[in-house]
Amino acid sequence: QPELWSDDFNDFICKCLIKDFELRPNVLDLLQHVFIKQIVGREKTLQKQLIELIDLSQQIGVIEKTRHERIHTKKGSHMKTQCDTDEVDDLATLELLDEDSVTEQLQNRYMTDQIYTYVGDILIAVNPFHKMDIYTPQYNQLYLGAKRTANPPHIFAVADVAYQSLVSYNADQCIVISGESGAGKTESAHLLVQQLTVLGKANNRSLQEKILLVNSLVEAFGNACTAINDNSSRFGKYLEMKYTCGGTVVGAQISEYLLEKSRVIHQATGEKNFHIFYYMYAGLADRKKLAHYKLSDSKTPKYLCNEYIKLVPDIVSNSFYKEQFETVEQCFKVIGFSLEELGSVYSTLAAILSSGDIEFSPVATEHQTDKSHITNNCILENVASLLCIRSDELQEALTSHCVVARGETIVRPNTVEKAVEVRDAMGKALYGRLFSWIVNRINSLLQPDEDEKGYHIGILDIFGFENFKKNSFEQLCINIANEQIQFYFNQHIFAWEQDEYLNEDVDARMIEYEDNRPLLDLFLQKPMGMLSLLDEESRFPQATDQTLVEKFEDNLKAKSFWRPKRVDLGFGIHHYAGKVIYNAGGFLSKNRETLPADIILLLRSSENELIRKLVTHPLTKTGHTNTLSESNSSASGDPGDTPSHPRETTNMKTQTVASYFRYSLMDLLSKMVAGQPHFVRCIKPNNDRHAQKFDREKVLVQLRYTGLLETAKIRRQGYSHRILFANFIKRYYILAFPAHEEPEATPESCAVILEKAKLENWAMGKTKVFLKYYHVEHLNLMVQQA
Ligand code: ATP
Ligand code: MG
Repeated sequence: QPELWSDDFNDFICKCLIKDFELRPNVLDLLQHVFIKQIVGREKTLQKQLIELIDLSQQIGVIEKTRHERIHTKKGSHMKTQCDTDEVDDLATLELLDEDSVTEQLQNRYMTDQIYTYVGDILIAVNPFHKMDIYTPQYNQLYLGAKRTANPPHIFAVADVAYQSLVSYNADQCIVISGESGAGKTESAHLLVQQLTVLGKANNRSLQEKILLVNSLVEAFGNACTAINDNSSRFGKYLEMKYTCGGTVVGAQISEYLLEKSRVIHQATGEKNFHIFYYMYAGLADRKKLAHYKLSDSKTPKYLCNEYIKLVPDIVSNSFYKEQFETVEQCFKVIGFSLEELGSVYSTLAAILSSGDIEFSPVATEHQTDKSHITNNCILENVASLLCIRSDELQEALTSHCVVARGETIVRPNTVEKAVEVRDAMGKALYGRLFSWIVNRINSLLQPDEDEKGYHIGILDIFGFENFKKNSFEQLCINIANEQIQFYFNQHIFAWEQDEYLNEDVDARMIEYEDNRPLLDLFLQKPMGMLSLLDEESRFPQATDQTLVEKFEDNLKAKSFWRPKRVDLGFGIHHYAGKVIYNAGGFLSKNRETLPADIILLLRSSENELIRKLVTHPLTKTGHTNTLSESNSSASGDPGDTPSHPRETTNMKTQTVASYFRYSLMDLLSKMVAGQPHFVRCIKPNNDRHAQKFDREKVLVQLRYTGLLETAKIRRQGYSHRILFANFIKRYYILAFPAHEEPEATPESCAVILEKAKLENWAMGKTKVFLKYYHVEHLNLMVQQA
């Protein structure tokens, strides 16, 4: 009998549990962890934990049982109505691989609530459009370090693979989530973070909690309701979870890309402003604090007016908004923002809202008819007071501008049109900079300690492909970014893999795929790509949106570009994901988007520290965006290499949205190529956001344009892992050789290990071992058990 509460005793209890419940190995790990590490000597806690664990293990048993029962029954019913299609968890294992069989599989699975399916090592996630019960702590545990085939496909398993790779290979990982708007990318990103924090066993609960709150916080500021998705991401987000070499989570960092700032001042039909404005309005009203922030309780700010919201009372009576405000504030506090900072954030948001209501009218004097003045001075006073600046100076900065001619500074009046432009530019700039400031602040609060160097897992969640009735500059940028992600996917899944077969003399049949490189060149090439042409045209004061489309037409000779007849300012692009007609109206002004120096200088004089900070480093975003990249080759570059480092430092005057966009895209790509990638492809099953509705045609189109069928083929016959002999030996020699005898890195010793592990269908190249994804899984498990 082991002594009570000793390690042996704990071991003994574990063994009893194992016997009683025939638990899975991952649950065993958990049990041992909890028993041995946490509760030695604490009788009460042990009893409680024991009960919880028994409960847990039973629940897991129950989950497994119900799943099998459910699948079994549903499968039975399908068999009666539809020919005999066996369900598979991995499409790459299908006997017959064609569009019909793949769609059929996905449909059958979707209708039985199996929203996840593998294609080799890639996960397909079909949006369920309803709450699922598969994300509970029990599921977190179920997928910890489990063999992939032990459980149904799941997003948690992707987190696990990335984590195990980080720990096994000591290398950075990158999870790329793609799919059109509303397909479920952001939800998937949340779930990955959830599982990655569990895997990272944060010692410190509060860090774990903070990391989980980061997404909610930045999404309140960066997401909005669009015609397609009520919680649509209007920015790209790359969240890096930082781990020690041993795999303990120690921090996080976010990089944000290309926030759609134009939404602050204008929203298309059927859309809304960023969530935070509504949350704050309702929340402050609830606390009787509207007056403090100079917000009206009866008149709706112009920036929030649209067909959904005509009246402030509609916003303030919305209990969902109030709750969200409380949640956001809680997130701010838990992450570590001070109350003073929060007050400044609200003041800035309120100032932005109020500034939209500043009105101008023309002043006609004898000599000048192009002057403007402000007609509602009380609003001007409010804005100035919220920004802690002088109202007369604000008035001057809005209604006039300084020009330097022959060494002399001359003040010129602004027309009404120009004054409105300056006002809106101020609103957009303040919001964009506030967003960047929040992100930077989160990063500094969640930074790991200096001495805790390790590796990270990045999760990429950008705005999805969009095609509205009317598509503008914002949609063009969003769709180019998606085009780039698709290119990266193709490179990784097809191009590089097939190149390696050739280089290494490995026999594998080549798979054809749709290469979207010509499209990327159409957009990004210098000097004749679309963005370069746009920049060039933006430099001519006389240029108009009409001259811009004409320039496109004269210079862009690709098949995928055309000018539709009878659409003013229209041009069409055949994207990888379909044809989109854009309207070039407003392209030039959106691209120029400069904040006049007068406004910047004025804001720098603010008595509010936050406002001053927002304008002190004009373009400093996540550390390095005050420089622009000059990619000198074809713009899509060769993602095999890290994109060229930024060389050219520009000032505010020359930076356009397009050039910043190009820079950001390269920066993002350089982050992605630095890690070992894992892909999650989200699929939208219907356009009505209905649960249990599988629109076959809609899904098929997505399968086609993402190349999923070809992916299944290459995953079936290709080798997803190519490991240098030396690395292979280092990692796996223990499976076939004595621990003290690391053999030479030769193909022969690699073959000995593979044979010893009883693996088949691998291939030996000139310098590398070629393996299928399941081989690696098998080998890793063997090493763990060795
Ligand atoms: P966008 O490109 O517009 O940002 P997205 O791909 O990020 O779109 P999400 O916001 O993640 O799309 O998903 C849209 C909606 O679909 C969610 O608000 C949610 O209602 C539903 N949804 C997505 N995934 C899931 C899931 N796993 N479980 C339940 N509901 C989901
Ligand atoms: Mg999203």
